[in-house]
Amino acid sequence: MNSTDAEPGAPAVATQRNESTTTTPVALNVLGLHKVYESRGRRVEAIRDLTFTVDRGQLVCVVGPSGAGKTTLLRCIAGLLDPTAGEIILDGTRVAGPPRGMAVVFQEYGRSLFPWMTVRQNVERPLIEKGMKREQRRETVVAALAAVGLSDSSDAHPWQLSGGMQQRVAIARAVAYEPSVLVMDEPFAAVDAQTRAELEDLVRSLWLRLGVTVLFVTHDIDEAVYLGERVLVLSNRPTVILEDVRIDLPAERDQLRTRSAPRFGELRGHVYALIQQAKEGHRPLQERDGE
Ligand code: ADP
Ligand code: MG
Repeated sequence: MNSTDAEPGAPAVATQRNESTTTTPVALNVLGLHKVYESRGRRVEAIRDLTFTVDRGQLVCVVGPSGAGKTTLLRCIAGLLDPTAGEIILDGTRVAGPPRGMAVVFQEYGRSLFPWMTVRQNVERPLIEKGMKREQRRETVVAALAAVGLSDSSDAHPWQLSGGMQQRVAIARAVAYEPSVLVMDEPFAAVDAQTRAELEDLVRSLWLRLGVTVLFVTHDIDEAVYLGERVLVLSNRPTVILEDVRIDLPAERDQLRTRSAPRFGELRGHVYALIQQAKEGHRPLQERDGE
């Protein structure tokens, strides 16, 4: 299965969130994930071996060089791509298709919105699939659009909006669905710096408010450190984890104050150095020992 089979950005399974799973602290368990693309005699080992967990309600960023396998990882987690080996456990259940309770926001938001539907209809659609009643749907859509600052645009069509606004619609749609896990793949890569900063703060505030588990892929080191509680740094392809960096900045983040804090600079410098090493082909010690 590939992403063209599913509606990108739209939660694929219309099921109520399972509240009984909130007892275990681990939301996502990636175990020995290995992914090789094979087509017409060409073999690309994208992911060699990834093992990590994400606790419920954590915000984890993933950074790595371009072509490292970040999107491949997310597509495996989103159940859009089968692992070659290893497995992904979400809320205690092995992922074998788009999981219930997960929403995905891709980089190409333009393609993930339906141009013939209004903003409101785009946000409402997964809620209809989820079986939500009309009155509750209306309230949920209004709240989600207000949360992303788009109350005035609910009757517009996506093509009437700027890129940043379209991305807000995609975020509103994901949030309205009330996912237990929100997965984002370089969602702000195509928006201007000012909008990007606003969207980063939007994700942080929604995350703090909703307690959702977030996995956020970016190639932007500053963005990863600013947003995350952890930053997973990936090696270049075939991907392994170079380091799982804990971001010990205060939970209250501010574009100016946080980014000018000495600790932010240290963490940024550390992740930057790791990415440089990754680009130069550095592999973790354990892996080199094992070869
Ligand atoms: P990233 O998101 O980190 O830039 P990707 O996960 O998109 O990296 O890609 C990782 C590697 O896998 C790249 O070398 C890419 O060319 C390759 N790749 C991605 N998708 C496919 C595919 N469908 N078939 C073959 N190779 C692929
Ligand atoms: Mg990618």
